[in-house]
Amino acid sequence: ASKSLTRGVLTSVRKSFAPQNALLHKFLLPCMAENADKPAVIDYVTKAVCTHGQVADYVGKVARKMLDWGVKPGDHVALSSFNHIHYFPVQLGIIAAGGRVALCNPGYTGREVDHLFTTAGVSRVIGHPNNKDAVNDAVKRLNLPDPLDITNVLEQSKDFSSELPDIEMDIHDTCALFYSSGTTGFPKAVEITHDNFVSQCMMLDDPACFNFTPETVNNGFLPSFHVYGSVVGAHVLHKGASSINLDGFNPVTFLGAIQDYKISFATVVPPIMVFLAKHPMVDDYDLSSLTDLVSAAAPLSEQLENEVKARLNNDKLKFRQGYGLSETTAASHYLSRLDPEKPGSIGSIGNNAETKVVDVETGEEVGVGQPGEIYIKGPCVMKGYFNNPSATAETFSEDGFLKTGDIGYYDEDGDFFIIDRLKELIKVKGFQVAPAELEALLLEHPLIADAAVIGIPDERAGERPKAFVVKRPGVDLDEDGVKEFVKEHASDYKIPGEVEFIDVVPKLPSGKIQRKILRAAEQAKREAK
Ligand code: AMP
Repeated sequence: ASKSLTRGVLTSVRKSFAPQNALLHKFLLPCMAENADKPAVIDYVTKAVCTHGQVADYVGKVARKMLDWGVKPGDHVALSSFNHIHYFPVQLGIIAAGGRVALCNPGYTGREVDHLFTTAGVSRVIGHPNNKDAVNDAVKRLNLPDPLDITNVLEQSKDFSSELPDIEMDIHDTCALFYSSGTTGFPKAVEITHDNFVSQCMMLDDPACFNFTPETVNNGFLPSFHVYGSVVGAHVLHKGASSINLDGFNPVTFLGAIQDYKISFATVVPPIMVFLAKHPMVDDYDLSSLTDLVSAAAPLSEQLENEVKARLNNDKLKFRQGYGLSETTAASHYLSRLDPEKPGSIGSIGNNAETKVVDVETGEEVGVGQPGEIYIKGPCVMKGYFNNPSATAETFSEDGFLKTGDIGYYDEDGDFFIIDRLKELIKVKGFQVAPAELEALLLEHPLIADAAVIGIPDERAGERPKAFVVKRPGVDLDEDGVKEFVKEHASDYKIPGEVEFIDVVPKLPSGKIQRKILRAAEQAKREAK
């Protein structure tokens, strides 16, 4: 239900939380102290444990180690790591030292890493043994100090005092930077403040939202560098819950962790829903401990949701879809876990926030059932894109709403449905692929004269990029040649699912690619099949 259903702004019907006026680490520390002996993170493979008390103890120690290493208040420190039981103490330690942690995809290749580090203006880097070469090379190229290795940071911090260093910080200072291409262009560094993060924690804590308890066991397989994994990790620390750390997706560890640790609350992305609906191994495991299943970060069809529920056949299991953006510190809208399920819906606007739907052509606010771009205002909305005032200005409306670039509508209960995407973004397995970035890479190929990229549907990944390529006259280049080139320079999930050779890329006189024309032609082709 929602308060205002006529044309205009919808305010949240969820219970308002009081502003906490707290820095992220100071907000979480007392909660961790209360649950000191409980495991916060258990590694599924090594069985290594980090308790809430250890995380709390190491926030101050790591902060002092950071200062000793040379981190100055306001410095940007890249954390470029796979999931690890020390991820959160290191992240919070950087923040407690007054640093701002840039959460980077650890699987990136050299050119992608360079882009992340320079876009966020990082001055120091913490890597992981599995991406040592990429991190070391980038650090040399960018002339940064030698990196630290996340697996050694706690050991190197153990002799420092656990007392927090006395550093002046404001709740509206940036504490974390995530990456998102927003509505257009290359990936940008999204500035998330202490207050944004704490507000998201307060929202997740609502009994209608996640509301973990010390008994909750979460599947820690979401990447900690993505905003979704990051806020679920913070919620674990806030509520004394436990998370079973998994480094990436593997059917055996994913299902084994649920069975062995009796995981109660699973947070997944749509490709995992495909896995749960279709993979034969799912029947070999006891998944009856699950009481909550949340899929977020990309569109999910009602049909897939129903298939998973039928297969898991568990009356205790409550399913919900989550929706949000890096720019809203993860969730912005949610369905109440206390209300009946509503397949296909992302629910209503979250606590203390406002939303509206705006007609794309006229710019007017629309009412029930009418599609348009979704706008959001509230305490979780980012400060802006780092060092990019023009992109920041374009992302906010004159009346201060964040323009999501997503198309949807709301029903008479104020619950939203996402139906399309206005922005260029492609989501592959929940990860962002920015067409502009891929186009720029393709243009570096010596045999390519021009290129344009759009998203096409893919059963497993949700979407894949499709590249439209104009070859230089008289050259010999085939689909595999294009894919190989992308594979060499970018992460695997950015490799085009299809390549089509065309004579000319449709463009406006300004030079802007008309992806709309390519998208419409592609859709017509698919419908004709
Ligand atoms: P990110 O910043 O990587 O979290 O990407 C945010 C974008 O992911 C949103 O603007 C949407 O386009 C998409 N997204 C996230 N959750 C959903 C959902 N439940 N349904 C449809 N799209 C979603």
